[in-house]
Amino acid sequence: MTTMTNHVILLQETYQMVECPECRGAGSVEYDVPRPHAGGFNEGYIDTVLGDCELCDGVGEVIQPCTACGEGMSKWDALHGAICSDCRNEEG
Ligand SMILES: [Zn+2]
Ligand SMILES: [Zn+2]
Repeated sequence: MTTMTNHVILLQETYQMVECPECRGAGSVEYDVPRPHAGGFNEGYIDTVLGDCELCDGVGEVIQPCTACGEGMSKWDALHGAICSDCRNEEG
C-alpha cells in the first residue's frame, strides 16, 4: 500500500459530476402536457411546459454512475475508467 496524498483523498471523496443527460446541463426540461379538446371543434393538442429536470433536480449535473453497478463515481474512480473501485476490484 502506497502512502496516500491529500490530493488523492480529496479525489476519492469528491463525486465526479457529469452533464445531466436528461436536460443536457440546462437544469430544466420541457414536459408534454396533453390538453383535452375544448368546444367540440378542437382536437386537442400537446402543450409543453418548462419545469425543473427531475433527474438532476434543476442542477444541470448528475453524479457519474458506474457503468457496471450504477453507484456514484468519485473523481478518483473516474480517473481509472468508467467503473467504480468496487467493480474494478472484482474484475481484478
Ligand atoms: Zn437534468
Ligand atoms: Zn460499480
